[in-house]
Amino acid sequence: MKSNLTILDQLPSAFLSISHRQIKDLFDTPTLIHLKGEKHPALFISILLHGNEFSGLQIMQEILKKYQTTGGYKLPREIWLFVGNVDAAQMGVRLRDGQTDFNRAWPGTPDPHSDTAVLIRDVMERITQKELFASLDLHNNTGQNPPYGCISAVNEKNKYLASFFNHIAMVFQSPKGVSTMAFDELCPAITLECSTPGNAPALKRAFDLIDDLMHMDHFPTKPLPVHDLQLVKNSATIKINTNITFCFEDDVSNSSDMDLTVVKNFDHHNFTLLEKNEVFAYSKVDKALVVTSADGEDITELIIQNDKGKLSLKKALMPAMISMDKKIVLQDCLCYLLEDY
Ligand SMILES: [Zn+2]
Repeated sequence: MKSNLTILDQLPSAFLSISHRQIKDLFDTPTLIHLKGEKHPALFISILLHGNEFSGLQIMQEILKKYQTTGGYKLPREIWLFVGNVDAAQMGVRLRDGQTDFNRAWPGTPDPHSDTAVLIRDVMERITQKELFASLDLHNNTGQNPPYGCISAVNEKNKYLASFFNHIAMVFQSPKGVSTMAFDELCPAITLECSTPGNAPALKRAFDLIDDLMHMDHFPTKPLPVHDLQLVKNSATIKINTNITFCFEDDVSNSSDMDLTVVKNFDHHNFTLLEKNEVFAYSKVDKALVVTSADGEDITELIIQNDKGKLSLKKALMPAMISMDKKIVLQDCLCYLLEDY
């Protein structure tokens, strides 16, 4: 089976000013672009795996503008740029209904026969013909998070990559089929969570990281000083149970007949400890939330207590990637719960 991947060896100049909603004017299907540069091996960068997370596009536009010359680009390092879910980007959504998530379809995915997985296999086949310097996958969050990196293999190079971006980073091994995990055996790899779409400080950090990587001859050989990076890991995921109606306390659509109400400004808890007994939601039903461990086991009873409808944690944990977007919550989760790695 062949995918609809387009492969180019130059970038139309309109790319530098286009918005994610117009991306289909340039790329009708997911597109992999090879850009020559002075240094090798190449850097692999993926953007718009989630269609509404447009910071990656803006970051690459800034990088390319910096190295634009008359008639092309004079890049310090060779780049493979993958522009992922162009259909979802045009619609301004994470993914289209019925599509397999572009960041759940990489080698290791539980669903290797989906159209998206077939497409990603074509990308991998092309970019891994030669060695890669590093792989960066650019994303945004829907809630208020600081910028942070996610790595799945804990090794010195990945720790350096993460520490160049921020002093806190997350280690993850699930869900399967995420881009960064597919590179574990190949090259240093990181997911850059660049806060909310368009967030300027996060854009700057990602820009600086990519620019540094384009000039670096090799990764530092000394181990990273322990205090330079706090590694946290996902210990659990909180989802809304099926058929539960829910809202956020600060929603305009907030209505008293919902099964579950999540407290106001819950996303301000991102990357700060949610204390034991601190109420974060109100529920009228028995099991409104489902908590699963990293290996998929239901651990709701171990993590959450329900005191006459007031939901809190049984032990202090750090929530992250809290989404205040109801659609994302239903597609993905309410939040992750972190602990020190
Ligand atoms: Zn994403």
